[in-house]
Amino acid sequence: MNILNIKFFKAFYFPYPVFSFYQISRKKMIAMYPFYKRKIFLLIILSYILLVASPLALLSGSIPQLENNLAVADAVRSSLLYLFDTILVIFLTVVPIGLLVIGGSRRRLKRLGALSIMILIILSYSPVIMGTSSQAIPERENPLASKVFIITFDGTRADAFWQYAEFIINHRDEGAWAYRIVCTYPTITYPNHVSLFTGTWPQIHGTELNAGGEYSSQQFILRRYRPPRAEDIFEVAEKYNIVTAIFSAPVTLASILGGESTYRFTGGEGEEMMQRTLNFLNDHRTEIEAKGLLAWIHLIDPDAAGHQGGSDSYLYHSAIRRMADLVGALYQKIHELGWENDTVIIVTADHGMIGNRHYGVWPPLVIDVPLWMWGKPFRSGLRLGGGRIIDIAPTVAFILGIPPPRESEGIVLYRAFNESYVKEKRGEIDIETLALKSLKSALAVEYTEILKWGLATLTMAWITLLVLLFAFRDFKKLRKELIRRKSM
Ligand SMILES: [Zn+2]
Repeated sequence: MNILNIKFFKAFYFPYPVFSFYQISRKKMIAMYPFYKRKIFLLIILSYILLVASPLALLSGSIPQLENNLAVADAVRSSLLYLFDTILVIFLTVVPIGLLVIGGSRRRLKRLGALSIMILIILSYSPVIMGTSSQAIPERENPLASKVFIITFDGTRADAFWQYAEFIINHRDEGAWAYRIVCTYPTITYPNHVSLFTGTWPQIHGTELNAGGEYSSQQFILRRYRPPRAEDIFEVAEKYNIVTAIFSAPVTLASILGGESTYRFTGGEGEEMMQRTLNFLNDHRTEIEAKGLLAWIHLIDPDAAGHQGGSDSYLYHSAIRRMADLVGALYQKIHELGWENDTVIIVTADHGMIGNRHYGVWPPLVIDVPLWMWGKPFRSGLRLGGGRIIDIAPTVAFILGIPPPRESEGIVLYRAFNESYVKEKRGEIDIETLALKSLKSALAVEYTEILKWGLATLTMAWITLLVLLFAFRDFKKLRKELIRRKSM
C-alpha cells in the first residue's frame, strides 16, 4: 500500500526545501511540491521552523540567566504538555468525523493517511527510561550535612509564600533561596512529589495523577495514576543505611515512596505532622545521630485552605504563615538538639494555586513554587536565578554524598553551595564551572523535550485544522451539488 506519500514527507522535512530552494528553479520546485501552491503549507513550515529555532535563545547567558532559562524551558515543556493533552481530545473528536465527510476523495485520504502516520511516529517516541544502573553501589562521599529535612507546603504559590511565610522571610538570608522554581505537569500533588524525590518528570516516573481517581475522569485522557517506576532518593539513602522518614498526609503517596525500612506517618494536618516529626526526633535521636536522616514533612494546610477559600483569601495566607511557623519549630528543635552545624532544611511546594484550583489550569499560572535551603553547606543570602522541582533530589544526593536517583534528569543546584565549606569537606571543587556545565547539559535536555512535545502538539493541531478545512470545503461542494440537483 502506497500510503507513504514521499512528496508529502519532503514538504514537511523543512531543511530540504530550504536548501533546495537555491538549487532548483521555482517552477521546478512547484512541480515537485505541489503543496507549495497553498499558502497554508508555507505557514505550517514556518511554524515548525519557529518551534525549532525559538528555544535556542534559552541556551546562552550568564549563570543566573541560565538558571532562569532552565526554569522557563521547563515551564515551556509543561505548557506544551498541557496543550498536547488539550488538543489530543479535540484531535480525536474532530479527525474521524472530518475524515468521514472528506471520505469521497481517495487521493486526499491518502495524504491524510500520511499525516496520521507521521503523528503516530511522533507520538511513538515516548520517553525511554535509561537503565544505566551499575550493580556496584558507589562509595559514599563525605556528607556536607548528615541530616536533611525536605518540607513541602502543599499548593503554595511562590508569590504568596514570599509574602506570608513570615518565619522563612525573616530567616531567608541565613540560607540560599530562589524566589521561584518550577514544579512540573500535571500540576497536582502526587506527580510533583514523586518528581521531587525521583528527580524526573511524571512522564518518565509514571505517576501522572493522584491515586484514588479524584481527577481521573477529567480532560486529560492520557494521564493516570501508577506507582512510580523510577528510583527515589529515599531508596538511595536506604542503600547507604541512612534513616529515612516520611510524614505525609496522603497514605498511598507515603506507601509508594521509600524502601522497607522507611518510617511512615500518614494522615493529619500541618500541626499534627510537625508534632509527630519532633516526637520522632526525640524517640530516634541515637539512631539518627549514628546514621544520619532523610525526612520529608508534608504540610497540607495551604492546599486545603486554597481549595476552600481561594488563593486571595485570608484562609490561604494564614495557612502559609502557620506552616512557616512550624518550620520555625523544627528550626528551634534542631538547635536544641545541637544539630545546627550538620543539618539542612529545604522548603518548597508541590504546586501553586489560582483561585481555588491548580489542576486543568494553564501551567504558568500555578507552577511557580518557592525554594529556601537552610544549613551550613549553603552560601548565606545567595539567590538562585531559578530552578526546577526535579533538581531537588540530585541536590539532596550531593549534600548526603550519595548518588542521585537512577532516572534523575535534574541537576545539582551547585551555585547555592558555600565553596569553601564544600572544599573543607570534600577537597578541591570549582562551583562556577560545575554550575555552568550542568546548566548547559540540562538546557540541552530541555530543548529535546520541548522539540518532542512541541512537534507532537503542533502536528496534531495542524492535522485537526487541515481536516476541518478540507471537510468544510467538501461539505460546501456537496451542498452545492445537492442544491444543483434539486433545481434540475
Ligand atoms: Zn498538592
